[in-house]
Amino acid sequence: MLSNEASRASTPAFTAVVPGLSVLRDVFVNLYYAFPQDQPQGPWVLIDAGLPGSAHKIKQHAEEQFGANNPPEAILLTHGHFDHVGALEDLMAAWPNVPVYAHRLELPYLTGRSSFPPPDPTVGGGMMAYLSFAYPKHPYDFGARVQALPADGSVPGLPGWRWLHTPGHTFGHVSYFREHDKVLVAGDAFTTVFAESGLSTLTQKQEVHGPPAYFTPDWDAARASMELLARLEPEVAATGHGIPMYGEALRRQLAEFITRFDELARPKIGRYAHQAATADADGVRSVPPPVVNPWLKGLAVAGLAIGAVALATAGNGRKRGERTGNGKRKKMRASDYSYRAWYRDNPAQPGPSGPDWQYRRPRAFSDQPYSFQQSAYSRPDELSPKPSSQQYADLRYSDQQSRKIETQYP
Ligand SMILES: [Zn+2]
Ligand SMILES: [Zn+2]
Repeated sequence: MLSNEASRASTPAFTAVVPGLSVLRDVFVNLYYAFPQDQPQGPWVLIDAGLPGSAHKIKQHAEEQFGANNPPEAILLTHGHFDHVGALEDLMAAWPNVPVYAHRLELPYLTGRSSFPPPDPTVGGGMMAYLSFAYPKHPYDFGARVQALPADGSVPGLPGWRWLHTPGHTFGHVSYFREHDKVLVAGDAFTTVFAESGLSTLTQKQEVHGPPAYFTPDWDAARASMELLARLEPEVAATGHGIPMYGEALRRQLAEFITRFDELARPKIGRYAHQAATADADGVRSVPPPVVNPWLKGLAVAGLAIGAVALATAGNGRKRGERTGNGKRKKMRASDYSYRAWYRDNPAQPGPSGPDWQYRRPRAFSDQPYSFQQSAYSRPDELSPKPSSQQYADLRYSDQQSRKIETQYP
């Protein structure tokens, strides 16, 4: 088992986190194998699907632990970023009867309906952030086998676990929680490594950090989600990036990080630093204009020509969203995988019955310390006049009476 003194060198790529949960480190991202504590041979589920090209490795470790011809009960996704769904297509082909689950607000990005908001390489922090411009940008389409997680908070294939909606890093990001001994699989809601830095990613020094900044389009939601997870007082945090952390040190670091979230996690500059992207059940609806790279800004002072280019870049970003005539989505050209082109060709459209979910930015949020009495998310009342306890996990933001984490569950 691992400890808080583990390092990349001392940690095998595939190892136990706690009984009933194993981790596979796939270069710089983690995926998890979860199973009943008293049945190490399975049945089991896979949480997240690693980098492209890693399906063979993922299956190999599954066979090692659960035997040949023993596919998982389900593949559960924390969110749809490329480093968490990279091998999904290959795994779905290898396991043709295995269902895939994600939060319903993540489905547009997994079923070809919307691209994620563009990543923001201007957030700084290190090489991993600067390289983010090169990460895959087109929407994935894994088809109808990707389903919404059950609304009652239960986790298919994992009795005793709950899923929690932890948006911010993506709109439909979820974390998975084994209640009786407080084992948390947090995805990228927070990390246990400084994920923006190439060096920290290399050594995997364990410490609590916020969500990977270059991919996070809503910092208020990210803070609320991390606060929710900190209030769970997890015994184990198994995150998408970094070696899992344990016990008191984990809880102390989480609590400290939350009190200084805006200082430690929220980028000083960056496209989403002070204005969030918005989305609904059909995908992204708006993104703030891009920030001109500070290096370009400096050069602009030195030369008018470069300044003009930088201004043109910023200007173009605002001209997003021309409508296609018949409302149909144009097919993407291979040469046209840029966000500007994607949003130009695929403006966000309301669904047939209008959006059933919306994000409302709390008024003057940045001026006040966050409290759970402020509701960051809400649904139109007519859709769920009295949320049943079954819908509770999904509606945690709208229940303003709830102060205790225990009552987040049905
Ligand atoms: Zn991510
Ligand atoms: Zn990630």
